[in-house]
Amino acid sequence: MLPDYYEFYNPVKINAGNEALETIPYELKQMNVSRPIIITDKGITNAGLLKVLIDSFDDSELVIGVVFDETPPDSSLKTVNKIAKLYTEYNCDSIIALGGGSPMDTAKGVNIIISEKDDDLRKFMGADRLKTPQKPFIAIPTTSGTGSEVTLVAVIYDEVNNVKMPFTSNRLLPNIAIVDPRMTLSLPARITAATGMDALTHAVEAYTCLQKNPMSDAYAFAAIKLVSENLLEVVKNGDNKQARFAMANASTMAGIAFSNSMVGAVHAIGHACGAIAHVHHGNAMAILLPYVMKFNMDMLENLYAELLLPIAGEEIFAETKTGEKAMKTIEIILIMNHSLNKLCGMPVKLSDAGVKKEQFEQIAKTAINDGAMLPNPKELNEKDVIDILTEAF
Ligand code: NAD
Repeated sequence: MLPDYYEFYNPVKINAGNEALETIPYELKQMNVSRPIIITDKGITNAGLLKVLIDSFDDSELVIGVVFDETPPDSSLKTVNKIAKLYTEYNCDSIIALGGGSPMDTAKGVNIIISEKDDDLRKFMGADRLKTPQKPFIAIPTTSGTGSEVTLVAVIYDEVNNVKMPFTSNRLLPNIAIVDPRMTLSLPARITAATGMDALTHAVEAYTCLQKNPMSDAYAFAAIKLVSENLLEVVKNGDNKQARFAMANASTMAGIAFSNSMVGAVHAIGHACGAIAHVHHGNAMAILLPYVMKFNMDMLENLYAELLLPIAGEEIFAETKTGEKAMKTIEIILIMNHSLNKLCGMPVKLSDAGVKKEQFEQIAKTAINDGAMLPNPKELNEKDVIDILTEAF
C-alpha cells in the first residue's frame, strides 16, 4: 500500500566511474572553494588511496589545506574536535572525506562543529538540530556498505557515555559523492563481506520499515539485486573492477533508499553491539539481519516474499510456493552469510564477533532507546532483543 504522504530528497551530485576522482578540482572550483581538508584513516593511507587523491590535484591551482589520517573506527567526539581545530588552524574552506563510514561520518561531525561554531557536538544529536548551512563537502567512499556519501545521517561514538550518537539532518548530505571503483579494489575480503552485508541490510530495512515509500523502494530493490549478484564475486576476486563498481553502486543506492525511509531493529541492535561490544557495524548487520527478519515475519511476510526476486533471481522466485517465499528470502541471507564465512572468515555468530552473554542486558537496554527502533514495524521490548541476541549468539 502506498503511504498517504512522503518526502524524498537526494540533492547529492553523484560522479561515478573510472577517474571520477579527477573531477574533484573542477567540483571544488564550482563551489568557489580552493583549500580543502582531507579526512581519512591510516588503512586508506597504507592502501595508497590518499596518494591517488592527492595526485588528482596535480594539474590544478588548488591547495590541500591539511590531511588528517588518524580517524579511528566509528570515530569519536575527541577526534571530531581535534580535526575541527586543524581545519581552522590551516585556513581550510571545505572538506573531503576519503574512506568508509568512519571517515565520512567523522567529516560530517567536523562540519557541524565548524559550521555551527560550537565545540559540543552532543548538542546537535538527534533529528534536525542543525541551523546553519554546512561547508562544501565531498565524500569519497572506499568501502561499499554504509552509503554515508548520500545519507543525511552521521553516527559518532561518544566514548564518555559508551553510545553511538545519531545525527540526522538534510544539511548533513554531502554536496558531491565520488563513486570511483579504484577506491574499493584494495578493500580486504573480510571488510568487503561485512560492508556488503551492511548495504544489503540498508536496502532490506528501507524496503520494509514504516517510512518506506515508492521512491525508496525502487532504490532498495535495485540495490538488493546488485548485492546478491556481486557480493560473493568481489569477496572471491577483489580485483574484479566491474563487480566492485556494481557493489559501489549498490551501496550508494541502498544509502539513498534508507536516507529517505530510515532503517529498523537490525540497526538499533547493531548500534548497541557496536557501542558496547565494539562489533564492526557491517558484521553486526550481517549477523543480526536474518534473526530480526524472523522476529518481524508476522508483520512483514508479504514484503519479504517480494524480496525473494532480487535476492534469488527469477528461477528460484518462480519455483518457490507463495507461502514459502518469505522464509526462503531469510534462508538465502543465512546461506550468503555462511558462504562469506567460508570465503573469508566473516563471523556469522555474535559470540565470534566479540559479544559476551553478560553484555546482553546492556545491549538490549541501549537498543530499545536507539532511534532506529522507531520505524521498525513491530515493537520490541528488552526481552525481545535478548531473544534475538540469544538466537544470533
Ligand atoms: P570503516 O570506515 O570503519 O573502515 C573499516 C576499515 O577498513 C578501516 O580500517 C579502513 O582503514 C579500512 N578500509 C576502508 N576502505 C579501504 C580500502 N579501500 N582499502 C583498504 N582498507 C580500507 O568501515 P565502514 O563499515 O565503512 O564504516 C563503519 C562506520 O559507518 C560505523 O561507525 C557505522 O556506524 C557508520 N555508518 C554510517 C552510516 C551513515 O549513513 N552515516 C550508515 C551505516 C554505517
